[in-house]
Amino acid sequence: MPAKGTHQSLEARLKISKTLMGHPGAMLGIHHSEETRRKISESHKGEKSIWFGTHHSAEWRYLQSQRVAGSNNPFFGKHHSIETRMKISEMQRGKKHKPHSEETRFKIGIANSGENSGHWKGDTVGYGQLHEWVRTHKPRVEICEICGIAPVTVIANISGQYKRDINDYKWTCQSCNITKLKTPNHKFNGFFKQLIAQRKKRIKEKGG
Ligand SMILES: [Zn+2]
Repeated sequence: MPAKGTHQSLEARLKISKTLMGHPGAMLGIHHSEETRRKISESHKGEKSIWFGTHHSAEWRYLQSQRVAGSNNPFFGKHHSIETRMKISEMQRGKKHKPHSEETRFKIGIANSGENSGHWKGDTVGYGQLHEWVRTHKPRVEICEICGIAPVTVIANISGQYKRDINDYKWTCQSCNITKLKTPNHKFNGFFKQLIAQRKKRIKEKGG
């Protein structure tokens, strides 16, 4: 039995469900009624939830995420079978998702912007090739070379000149890449400034 408040991985849950299937004590393919499910849900909501009023520190959340990041993840290097993927897709279908928070949308925007965008082709084809060259020549590290804390997400250019020199690049987290490396001459600088200004304005409008 996992500790209260923790969750089994999807893999684990599928396994458990498979093991219990058809055994005494399992629900033998019987499902709770809509009404029962609603009651169960109600009884765990809001102040009845074990999490009500509690918040984890940023540090706690970071450590928890690191616990299962990259090669620490039991699923590292593995892939779901087509069958499992179909199951996941089925489970997700028709599910209503909460809209992302302002902060999350901002992060997604940044993650998908510029060179991270699927549409980004670089100024020239040469730019993409250069990045590819750096990626294959600069030994990959797991932790951001600038802050030394966050996991690496991008390979960032230092000088803004995109030299064909691995020393002109660092493996960094997205945050350091944006906040510490975008020089006044950097081609994305204006874009990020605009993005941050827009966000500040929206928050101000909301608050005021
Ligand atoms: Zn960093």
